[in-house]
Amino acid sequence: MLEEKWQCDRCNKMIHGAENAWLKWKKNLNDETFYEFKIVHHPTCEQPIPKVQKSRLAEPGDPLTEYLGDNGFIRLLELVAHTEGKDRDELLKLIQRLHVPGYESAHIHFESAFKNGELVPPTNGVFYPTIRKIKEINEQYA
Ligand SMILES: [Zn+2]
Repeated sequence: MLEEKWQCDRCNKMIHGAENAWLKWKKNLNDETFYEFKIVHHPTCEQPIPKVQKSRLAEPGDPLTEYLGDNGFIRLLELVAHTEGKDRDELLKLIQRLHVPGYESAHIHFESAFKNGELVPPTNGVFYPTIRKIKEINEQYA
């Protein structure tokens, strides 16, 4: 069972319940690439785009509920297909936050666990621990 709470990527406070969260990102209107994916409080932590950037930038977003479950997983994979480089890595981390049990509460401890020799090195800055390892980290660092 997935926890229905996430840490807001804008204010860092907890969001309780998927209905109170949105997935937001930026879209470069010139090359159609997506970047800066964030899970944020709805509507308080959604920030409008400054007027000067509106011609080259859009900020799409959807209720987080649309990215949960099996269909949500497929929608996230479609976003991966529009994303490159370190933004793709950030999105792969975000997908784990939404779909891997325990990941959201454990991931803030991954760097410490890695330094303590308890976790294998990240790939392009993102950790891909097993479920067992996530459970151990949540028990040990809680
Ligand atoms: Zn917030």
